[in-house]
Amino acid sequence: NSDRKRAVILLDLKKIHSFNTSYGYSYSESVILLITRQLAKWCPPGCSLFQVSFERIAVYVEGYESKEALTALCESVIGQLESIQVRQSLDCNLGILEISETGTKSFDVIKNVSIAAARSEENRELPYYFFEQELKEKKDRESELREELSTIARSEDEDPLYFVYQPVFYSGRNEVMGLEALARLQSDKLGLVYPLEFIPLAEETQTIIPIGKKLLRKACLFIKELDALGFGEVAVAVNVSPIQILRSDFGKDLEAILDETGISPWRLTLEITETAFAASYETVNETVGRLRKLGISFAIDDFGTGHSSLARERMLNVDYVKLDKFFVDDLLVGNKKQSIIGEIISMQHKMGFKVIAEGVEYDEQKAYLEEHGCDYLQGYLLSRPLARESVLELLAKTNS
Ligand code: C2E
Ligand code: CA
Ligand code: CA
Repeated sequence: NSDRKRAVILLDLKKIHSFNTSYGYSYSESVILLITRQLAKWCPPGCSLFQVSFERIAVYVEGYESKEALTALCESVIGQLESIQVRQSLDCNLGILEISETGTKSFDVIKNVSIAAARSEENRELPYYFFEQELKEKKDRESELREELSTIARSEDEDPLYFVYQPVFYSGRNEVMGLEALARLQSDKLGLVYPLEFIPLAEETQTIIPIGKKLLRKACLFIKELDALGFGEVAVAVNVSPIQILRSDFGKDLEAILDETGISPWRLTLEITETAFAASYETVNETVGRLRKLGISFAIDDFGTGHSSLARERMLNVDYVKLDKFFVDDLLVGNKKQSIIGEIISMQHKMGFKVIAEGVEYDEQKAYLEEHGCDYLQGYLLSRPLARESVLELLAKTNS
């Protein structure tokens, strides 16, 4: 019946792969077989065994009393491994997920319990780990981050936000056209935090508005620095959230920053995603139009992942389209979708946009893009995002 408590214990034998390399596949196969046989002999009432993949065995537990009963089962599984002398060499990791406690959906059970098992690997005293703990740690981290973001948003002082810069190259040339500023947060308590973690939280709490302003100001100060060093032709692109650009005073705030820092609007590119347009096409296109008159350039970021139809895009007021990595990934050998990327590039050109390809990681992608007239390339193959000093060193080589 449904009020009986249910849990999954996952035994992850990752180390078996090192057996594979040292002794061959059939040896590790025989070890796995030995383990499953032993566990089958052991399997107490209320428990069922499943081999989830070659190296992962799940014990489904129904109608247990308490957490202690689950940890006792884990100990017992470990005891079984000891009895056949594989415990030491395999260094097993156990994850525990209480289905009703965590409210986990059935299709996430294996994923979540695997996360817990991986955690037990890093774990200190015990070879097993409850997923619930993982959830709690995640929530704690999130609330710490929320707090930091709100402190940063309120404070006038130095903040722990900074940029790294990823170069965008002219296609077919070893010369940098521009730099994309990518935000990082160096937190005392959480260490280095990436934008994929903190930007969504900042958006959710609206702190993205003051934080976005701070970032724009930092980018403008960097442009000033570039100008002073003689790299006045290198554009700097900043990512802007839909929430920022949808605010009526976005333009006014930006102009104030330009005035204060004294940089020319021509030096700045703003990257916005298609979703920004989808949210309120008229407002955004109007804001963009007005800022473009000032001289600021715009790029559609992550092109191809959002909602905009090509027909509507024709009317967008932008300079660049950034082909998402998702398209670029299709440019590997043997992929039938290859051919349409070239068509997309020429279509963008007909509409008057320059095309930047993102996430270029392989030579064959680069070759295809260059051959098909893509204007600019960006990606790990050409350069990773770089710290300020390194990017200046690079520019000294490529752009002097
Ligand atoms: P994005 O604008 O699409 O930026 C590209 C992301 O892909 C960056 O991750 C970059 O490091 C990564 N990348 C670049 N080349 C490659 C490659 O060849 N392979 C792979 N696998 N990845 C590559 P990052 O820095 O973690 O930024 C993630 C996202 O965070 C950005 O995606 C952007 O949407 C957002 N973001 C970053 N900085 C800011 C900011 O200052 N403001 C706002 N609102 N959003 C930001
Ligand atoms: Ca971007
Ligand atoms: Ca992008």
